[in-house]
Amino acid sequence: MSLADQFPDITTHSAPLAPFTHLKIGGPAEFLVQPRTVDELNAVLKTCQRSGVKVRMLGGGYNLLIRDEPVGGAVVRLTAEPFTFLKRDGNRVTAGGGAQLFDLIAFAVRNGLGGLETLVGIRGTVGGSVRCNVGDRSGEISQTVRSVTVLTDAGRVQVRGRDELTFTEHQSDLDEPVILSVEFELEAESPAAVLKRMKKAWIQRKAAEPLSFQAGVRLFRNPPGQTAATLIDRAQMTKARFGGAELSERNSNYAVAHPGTTAHDVLQLVEHVRQKVQERTGVSLERELHVW
Ligand SMILES: Cc1cc2nc3c(=O)[nH]c(=O)nc-3n(C[C@H](O)[C@H](O)[C@H](O)COP(=O)(O)OP(=O)(O)OC[C@H]3O[C@@H](n4cnc5c(N)ncnc54)[C@H](O)[C@@H]3O)c2cc1C
Repeated sequence: MSLADQFPDITTHSAPLAPFTHLKIGGPAEFLVQPRTVDELNAVLKTCQRSGVKVRMLGGGYNLLIRDEPVGGAVVRLTAEPFTFLKRDGNRVTAGGGAQLFDLIAFAVRNGLGGLETLVGIRGTVGGSVRCNVGDRSGEISQTVRSVTVLTDAGRVQVRGRDELTFTEHQSDLDEPVILSVEFELEAESPAAVLKRMKKAWIQRKAAEPLSFQAGVRLFRNPPGQTAATLIDRAQMTKARFGGAELSERNSNYAVAHPGTTAHDVLQLVEHVRQKVQERTGVSLERELHVW
C-alpha cells in the first residue's frame, strides 16, 4: 500500500514541487504530504520509516534547488495551523516550524520585542531559517533561539535547549527530520525603536540582493573573513551564464533564474564558478544552497 493509499486526504502522488520553490524549478515529488496535525505527521514519519521511504522537509524553498528529475519518497510541507502558530509568553515567542519568518518578525515588532528585526527581508519558514541559521553581519537567528522542538527519527517529540545546539555560518547541527517549533528569547523595547531598526535593515538588505522581480538564490557560504561575492568578483566571473541561469549583477553570490531555466543550468553555473574561484583565488567555496 502506498503513502497515498494510507493517507489519502493529505497526500498527492506525483505532485509538482516547482510552484513551492523560489526559483520555480524542479521535478515532481513521488508523494507530497501536508499533514493537518502533529499526530498525523508522526504517523506519516513512522510509516515512511517502516517502509524505508525517504522523507524530506520543504520550507519556503528559498535555499533549495530541486533537480529536474522526480524526487523519490515523501516531501512534507508544514502549512496547517498546528505548524504555523505564533505565541507570546513575556519576552519569549514560540513559532511553529512552518510559520513564515516575516510573520514572526512582524509579530515580535508589534509586541515591542527586539532581536529578530534585523533579519527582515530574509524569506523562508521558521524551521528552514533556524536549520540554515539565517542572518548576516548584523546578526544571526541563532542569537535569539532558546530551544527547538523536533520530531526524531524514532517519532519522539524532543526539546533541544540552546546549549545542546551548535550554529555556525548559515548552518546548524539540527539534523532531526522535523523542526516542529522554535522558542525565541527577545528583548522588551518600545515598538517604535524596534520598527526603526527594522526599516533600516530592510533598506540595507534590499540593496544587496537581486532585484525584487528576479528569482535568485544565494550560492556559497562566506569563507572566514571574506565574502563569497568579493571572491567571485575577483575571479572575474560576473558574466557567467548557463542556459537561463546567470550571476546577479547586484550581488554575484546570487544566481538569477530567467524563465525556462533548469536545475541543470543552475548546477552547471555553481560548479563553474566554484572551479574558477578556486583556480584564480585559491579559495574553495562551500555551497550554501541545499540541493535535492
Ligand atoms: C533573495 C534571497 C535573499 C536571501 N538572503 C539571505 C540572507 O541575507 N541571509 C541568509 O542567511 N539567508 C538568506 N537567504 C536564504 C534563505 O532565505 C534562507 O536560508 C531561508 O530562511 C530558508 O528557509 P526555507 O523555509 O525557505 O527553507 P528551504 O529552502 O525550504 O529548506 C532549506 C533546508 O531546510 C530544511 N527544512 C525546511 N523546513 C524544515 C523543518 N520544518 N524541519 C526540518 N528541516 C527543514 C529543508 O529540508 C532544507 O534542507 C536568501 C534567499 C533568497 C532567495
